[in-house]
Amino acid sequence: MFILKDKTQLEKAIAKAKKIRPRVEFGGFGHYRVSGSKGFYTVICRKDERGLKTVDCTCKGAEKGLVCYHAASALSLHVGLARTRQTA
Ligand SMILES: [Zn+2]
Repeated sequence: MFILKDKTQLEKAIAKAKKIRPRVEFGGFGHYRVSGSKGFYTVICRKDERGLKTVDCTCKGAEKGLVCYHAASALSLHVGLARTRQTA
């Protein structure tokens, strides 16, 4: 799990995601399944009670607090959805 503070955190992971182009499946708002080297990983994006944006992924990298490309892929979808929600 990591806390999303600003976009620069995601730069490397986004670059990797662009190369790998994982499949992202929508599982409900803030809940995504992203394809990885060993099947699908589940990514959960949410705001905690302090208003911090937290991102959870079930892969090994994220367990260590790394920003993985699964999370970056899910976030790019999540951010778009969050925006349409706000304007709807
Ligand atoms: Zn991951």
